Amino acid sequence: YLEQTTEVKSLFTQVYNDFKMLHPDFVINFDDDIREGSKVRIYRNHLEQVLVILLDNAFKYSTERKEINFAASTNSALLEVVVQDYGLGIAKNDLKRIFNRFYRVDKARSRKRGGNGLGLSIAKRLIEIYHGSLEVESVVGSGTVFKIELPLVQEDEKDDENETKKND
Ligand code: ATP
Repeated sequence: YLEQTTEVKSLFTQVYNDFKMLHPDFVINFDDDIREGSKVRIYRNHLEQVLVILLDNAFKYSTERKEINFAASTNSALLEVVVQDYGLGIAKNDLKRIFNRFYRVDKARSRKRGGNGLGLSIAKRLIEIYHGSLEVESVVGSGTVFKIELPLVQEDEKDDENETKKND
């Protein structure tokens, strides 16, 4: 798994289209600033799983304003992803714990929304295994922003891979 690379643009387009299909009542703003051809060193299903966990949470914990911002951009070194909702938000004390296994903010309230409190702990572990980061900022009553950073496969690494193929 750890050696696999994923073409960024096609995955994000697919995840965006899947979300639109599953949640037609939501406005999802997809801000795509992904350089053509960019790749990240992560197994495709793993990155998809992380995006689905974040988007599913954004959907579950939204309230009146059913709107999600989904942004992905690349610079020379990193893929940066933002998943933002305008929902319940998370209090400062809970923010420290949401990445813990089985931690849920409000058990009574959340029970109605389903879930075991595992999604974010899995997302964080997966991203860190691939040397990326997953951070959160939130304001109670206003909403939450999750941010992922993952290193991009560099041009010279791509050449290396081509080299290996040529020599095979
Ligand atoms: P599941 O195991 O199905 O993912 P879950 O949503 O309860 O269930 P996590 O994804 O790990 O589990 O999230 C942990 C807790 O963090 C949630 O129970 C919820 O209280 C809080 N949380 C996560 N995402 C958001 C969000 N976008 N807005 C507000 N609260 C959130």
